[in-house]
Amino acid sequence: MSPLTRRTLIAGGIASAGATVLAPTTANAVAYPFTLGVASGEPAPDGFVAWTRLAPNPLAPDGLGGMSAADVTVEWQVSADQRFTQVVKSGTATAVRAWAHSVHVEVTGLQPGREYHYRFRALGFVSGVGRAVTAPAPGTSPALTMLFTSCSHYEAGYFTAYRRMAEENPHLVLHLGDYLYEGAASTTNVRKHAPSPEISGLADYRVRHAQYKTDPDLQAAHAAAPWLVVWDDHELENNYANLVRNDSSPAGDFTARRAAAYKAYYEHMPLRPAQAPTAHNMQLYRRVRWGSLATFHMLDTRQYRDDQACGDGTKVCPEADAPGRTLTGAAQETWLLDGMRQRLGTWDFLGQQVFFAQKLASAAGAKSMDSWDGYSANRDRLQRGWDAAGLKNTVVLTGDVHRSWASNLMLDYTAQDRVVGTELVTTSVTSGGDGNAADNGLSALNPHVKFHKNLRGYVRTVTTPDQVAVDFRFVDKVTVRDYPVKTVQSYVVQAGNPGLQAP
Ligand code: FE
Ligand code: CA
Repeated sequence: MSPLTRRTLIAGGIASAGATVLAPTTANAVAYPFTLGVASGEPAPDGFVAWTRLAPNPLAPDGLGGMSAADVTVEWQVSADQRFTQVVKSGTATAVRAWAHSVHVEVTGLQPGREYHYRFRALGFVSGVGRAVTAPAPGTSPALTMLFTSCSHYEAGYFTAYRRMAEENPHLVLHLGDYLYEGAASTTNVRKHAPSPEISGLADYRVRHAQYKTDPDLQAAHAAAPWLVVWDDHELENNYANLVRNDSSPAGDFTARRAAAYKAYYEHMPLRPAQAPTAHNMQLYRRVRWGSLATFHMLDTRQYRDDQACGDGTKVCPEADAPGRTLTGAAQETWLLDGMRQRLGTWDFLGQQVFFAQKLASAAGAKSMDSWDGYSANRDRLQRGWDAAGLKNTVVLTGDVHRSWASNLMLDYTAQDRVVGTELVTTSVTSGGDGNAADNGLSALNPHVKFHKNLRGYVRTVTTPDQVAVDFRFVDKVTVRDYPVKTVQSYVVQAGNPGLQAP
């Protein structure tokens, strides 16, 4: 549908629904401003965040999306039906230039455990319609279909996995980091990054985010369900650690670069205003409850970590096991264990970025310094902490490595003593390009690691009070558009019995 047709049809719908009708803002864009789609996130029992950003010219090099006015009033509506005949909430928000004309509307006053639809109007145009779902009420535990993925490199392939996720009509989607990549445009991939150089300033990060958000498959996934997002490294720079840069290019103040990257990330994600950054700091770790069924502890393993030991890479490095090292920072570690001990729901899902289980790369003990293996004391404190509290339903959800893995978490990996949790690692949406269905190598060095597949896709989970049913979902190619998705491996995780079981 053309923007003009959409404008004609749906503008009438807004008027007939009785929403406040505002005079068009003068001296502003005349082109369709909702080129980046709509998104919802942070579901609560009484509402969710509804996001959009006005950008009639999304790739404008100044990062302002073709907007000229300082402030624009944006109307929003939430309806019980897709045609907006049952509008239950409406209001206005102000899209301001300082935040790239994004809006993060915290909708409240809705019913728990219900499906809603939302849309926006600004500058005389009406947005596409998004679907959101509210969390169930505390004390209830209806089944939850949640999909999670990570690592969506625009150039490496088409976002078919996002399209397939949208088609599953989930209640909730998690993106566990590397939502975009900061690198320079390549000449050998199926698509080309904008702007061309490695991004480092605010305008650059905004344009790159806008480019990703113009993808129709990504827009479909955002419009299909509320998301919970956390970043990994590439939203700023490969393998950075806190304020320690990975390499010296591009030159410039890394603290300022972090501030720019965090600000652009917030501007483009359906996060609450409580997450808006101050300078180079952003409170991203947070808890989201899903009734009494599950608690999502969304972690930030980049902003507070010690520098990678032994200069990063995969190597033998005794320093990685030093007791004082931290990946989460002390405050987040305390916050996580305190939250888990509250037993807010049957299941504790840790939505986070880097490989959690031990994974030896050689008999001599080489391990990845960027993952939890580079911070093993931090992992050990967490595992012992939740085990001492008697918690048996911890499921760690992971991205980053562009492959799918499934592991039992062991209290002692060397002795292979006692399973204390489960880790599900999603593969990438595209990063790494087309995979290899035959590649499922497992190492005898890691008997607790049960599954490994090098294909692109996502993980589907269906959670009830009794179990989490897990399907690893893959597409055969991403360099060719529109492949179907298929389940290659399934497990169940039983409540009270940590670890992977046959379905
Ligand atoms: Fe990645
Ligand atoms: Ca990463």
